[in-house]
Amino acid sequence: MTSTARPFLNRRLAEFGTTIFAEMSALAATTGAINLGQGFPDTDGPEEVREAAVRALRDGRGNQYPPGPGVPELRTAIADHQRRRYGLSFDPDTEVLVTAGATEAIAATLLALLEPGDEVVALEPYYDSYAACIAMAGASRVPVTLRPDPERARFRLDLDELRDAVTDRTRLLLINTPHNPTGTVLTREELTAIAALAVERDLLVVTDEVYEHLVFDGAEHVPLATLPGMRERTVTIGSAGKTFSFTGWKVGWVTAAPGLVTAVRSAKQFLTYVSSGPFQYAVAEALALPDSYFDDFRADMRAKRDLLAAGLADAGLTVFRPAGTYFVTTDIRPLGESDGFAFCRSLPERAGVVAIPNAVFYDHREAGAPFVRFAFCKRTEVLADAAERLRKAFSH
Ligand code: PMP
Ligand code: GLN
Repeated sequence: MTSTARPFLNRRLAEFGTTIFAEMSALAATTGAINLGQGFPDTDGPEEVREAAVRALRDGRGNQYPPGPGVPELRTAIADHQRRRYGLSFDPDTEVLVTAGATEAIAATLLALLEPGDEVVALEPYYDSYAACIAMAGASRVPVTLRPDPERARFRLDLDELRDAVTDRTRLLLINTPHNPTGTVLTREELTAIAALAVERDLLVVTDEVYEHLVFDGAEHVPLATLPGMRERTVTIGSAGKTFSFTGWKVGWVTAAPGLVTAVRSAKQFLTYVSSGPFQYAVAEALALPDSYFDDFRADMRAKRDLLAAGLADAGLTVFRPAGTYFVTTDIRPLGESDGFAFCRSLPERAGVVAIPNAVFYDHREAGAPFVRFAFCKRTEVLADAAERLRKAFSH
């Protein structure tokens, strides 16, 4: 039955081995190092949201297959959230789809919208599932590389490069803001230019906004769907994992015009069909939390960012201060190193800390080689300990 002449994994997926997140979390487990690699909080989200999940389980809500598009309570809560925060109006029945995390939303969207041979223009470095899902759809990716600006304050999008990347085969632009791993929040001007390009070239836009609530220092999260000409051509992806610190619940969603949602649902129904029944009810309650929850969450994460960023800077790394997400990207060259992979593999032994080499998020690996990502969604004492370890290991 098996053949050794032919590898089991098909050609579309051959370049994708184990995700870096699994590899680095395993390294943290075997070495006992502090895991600042994979992005997950080390404390759970609000108690009342956890209790809402327990209540749903006990009351028998969602213990059997929920409806394919998601439970009505959650779809309504998602639509209310989009209206309250951004003035966007979506019909919960035809324009909202609940998915198994943003990961399934990305997969279903790309599998639904792409034909083999289509091109997807995406911002590099990109979240690893984008490349894999584009490949599963038989399409190809065209990276546009975000580069440090001259003051090395942030990673910046070159709008001319973006424009040049679009060809007659381009089907969609795949955008992520706030951006993992660089922490860049695209500005209103950048997003307006992206929108204008999409309208001019008649492109669909898929925008991953899972870090929408994690923006700092007055940065503004501008949903692409709010910009002129975008409401009808944009698929917006969100997730409860990041906003409510329940990454294991895997509740995500898509909001888009009815035709797009119908298409995405067609693919989604053959991936998981449905998921996370009781958790959907709990996330519906979470989305209705008062603004104070979102403000406190942001303030807490900002303090964590500052703590870790200070430790990294003291250790001698160049820190790109993130305006969003819960990741900080650094440049290791001031330490006399240039290979992020080698650095991350040796970091547990040298400093007792695990991080992620940004090169895995690049097609142009050399462009990402010296950059390393650290997650700061961890308890203050854990971050303080990590910062101390890094200082000790690298400052002389
Ligand atoms: N998109 C981005 C940019 C992410 O960083 C992540 C995971 N942290 C996801 C999507 C996946 O989200 P989920 O856990 O909801 O599947
Ligand atoms: N999105 C998380 C990160 O960037 C990891 C999620 C995963 O492990 N797939 O760290």
